[in-house]
Amino acid sequence: MKSYILSLGLISLVFSSNAQTLSNYQKALAILDKAIGATGKDAPNSITLTAKGTVHNLGHYETPEKTRDIPVEETYAYFRNEQVNYLRSAIQNNGNNYVRSAIKKADSLYQIGYYDRRIIASTNAQEFNFETAKTLPVKLLEFAFENRQSLRYLGNDKTHEWLSFSYKANDAVTLYINRKTYLIDKVEKLTYNDRYGDAVFTTEYKNYELQNGVQFPKNRVDIEYGLVERELTYSDLRFDTKPDTTDFRLLWLSKTFRDKLPGVTPQEDNLTFENIGANLDLIKIVSQNNKVLAAQFKDYIALFESPSGLRLNQQILAEIQKRYAPKPLRYVFVTHHHPDHAGGIRAYALLPVTLVTTPGNEAYFKKLLTATHTLGNVPSKNEGLKLKMDFVPLEGQKAYKDEQMEVIAYEIGKATTHSNEHLVYYFPQQKIIWSGDLLFFRADEKIYPAGNRGKSVYDLIQSQKLTVDKIYTSWPLQGQAPFGKVEELKKATAMK
Ligand SMILES: [Zn+2]
Repeated sequence: MKSYILSLGLISLVFSSNAQTLSNYQKALAILDKAIGATGKDAPNSITLTAKGTVHNLGHYETPEKTRDIPVEETYAYFRNEQVNYLRSAIQNNGNNYVRSAIKKADSLYQIGYYDRRIIASTNAQEFNFETAKTLPVKLLEFAFENRQSLRYLGNDKTHEWLSFSYKANDAVTLYINRKTYLIDKVEKLTYNDRYGDAVFTTEYKNYELQNGVQFPKNRVDIEYGLVERELTYSDLRFDTKPDTTDFRLLWLSKTFRDKLPGVTPQEDNLTFENIGANLDLIKIVSQNNKVLAAQFKDYIALFESPSGLRLNQQILAEIQKRYAPKPLRYVFVTHHHPDHAGGIRAYALLPVTLVTTPGNEAYFKKLLTATHTLGNVPSKNEGLKLKMDFVPLEGQKAYKDEQMEVIAYEIGKATTHSNEHLVYYFPQQKIIWSGDLLFFRADEKIYPAGNRGKSVYDLIQSQKLTVDKIYTSWPLQGQAPFGKVEELKKATAMK
């Protein structure tokens, strides 16, 4: 019996230390979110501050654990968009000045120590990122969010919620979040030293003040091996510095690296708009070798196809809003459920948009539309689905029309043998067809057998007596002619 209890205890210990559940993560994220809100959601891109105080240096002195006070003055600078952090720390020891400088951009780090004046370059900025993040709670919360894959809710007591995260393997940080203010009171990190053994390093923040929408502590105390290691007072907050400024005395850095500092790494796709008919614009997405279509109705815009990529679709949305302002996006039409045509619909979930599709996609699309994306690179919760779906009946048709624009959706899935349900869109005014994965018109004008896919579109044109000047396809972009003609399709259909 005793060994049974022991092994049970062991199992639950192992389980609780290794397991992470989605609900635990979500609880931790909700608390982190609240802390970020309380500390300052819209922190300025650039923050610079001075930290002045005393290091109680644990040196080789006359008695055990005797410390000597060393004055320290530090400048910290943060540039979120440029992914640049900077530290300059000056200490006075035995009447001499020693300066440590470090700067990182993304994962590249350059530093010079207090005593060793060689420039050390590395591509591992994790420890420096933690050191600079720990200086300011608003940055520490950002850092925890960046590392949210490891986020855990540990529990609470009367005064604090406990969250933990890791920024590298086997290294966990615990945040003590005040249950009243949701500000960080304390951060703790487990450490080991072969003289002191197991230990914990603690940083405490005190006397928060609101500046520029952000809660900044006035004071900070670090405790190491149970002794106060340093006491700092923060001052001279600035929000207007630039990462290339010579104020930061970065002249020791190589010029190429210094020149890189102000740059923001672009994360955007290259989208090109091309007008192909009255109120119809093709949008070319080079990185995805894909195309989508934008149609201007009188009071709103409709998008045709939504290929995978949350960030890509947010960019498409932003460019549509900019280009066709003040008309909002109100419709997203997809040809079929494949990712390169409908994989990005989640980007429109929270908008009053109508998604036009076929009934067989309802459950699958609903699953995509209601998923949370807090772990993704475009973090998004699901704050309630606003998008509505509209279905084109199987083997039927449906028209969407106002004074300025008309499009008719035809469902021909069965005939395509590509997907069971598949829509083809016809614009009668422009005499244009928009199709998904059914047709290919090569740039070199070589014609290949159309197969069932091509035949399904040709049969539709014939049976509905559609007048068609140009046939446009979505995927792919490269190697394809801008559009095809019915004559070419007819030839391809005749080929075996
Ligand atoms: Zn497909």
